[in-house]
Amino acid sequence: MLMSDQEKYNIKKSDEDWKEELSAEEFEITRLKGTERPFSNKYWDFKDKGIYNCRCCGNPLFDSETKFDSGTGWPSFYDSIKKDAINTIMDTKFGMIRTEAVCKNCGAHLGHIFNDGPAPTGMRFCMNSASLKFEPQG
Ligand code: FE
Repeated sequence: MLMSDQEKYNIKKSDEDWKEELSAEEFEITRLKGTERPFSNKYWDFKDKGIYNCRCCGNPLFDSETKFDSGTGWPSFYDSIKKDAINTIMDTKFGMIRTEAVCKNCGAHLGHIFNDGPAPTGMRFCMNSASLKFEPQG
């Protein structure tokens, strides 16, 4: 992410700072908007109860209660934990118009949001496991 973009967020760190805190894969996905492979990531088939926080800054993003099996091989949720946890950006890469999801606190790329999810929201937050950090609860 360009430093000028990072300036928009509460957490202001350079790529060099992030590289010290993240694995190479986590950096590629969260700070350079990469995508991990489906069905071989940490949380796609993970069912424990708890909260999924931003891997970069710890901002709470999703409750396991809203996780569902989307069949995509990525962790999928039908809602975020609160309205202001996630920012959306129009993504026109690869000849598609998609809604990118980023952490509102630090700008981390999380994944994309689609409108083919289950009730009650009809939304599908298709996330990268590498962008999340699970915190058990209960
Ligand atoms: Fe974050």
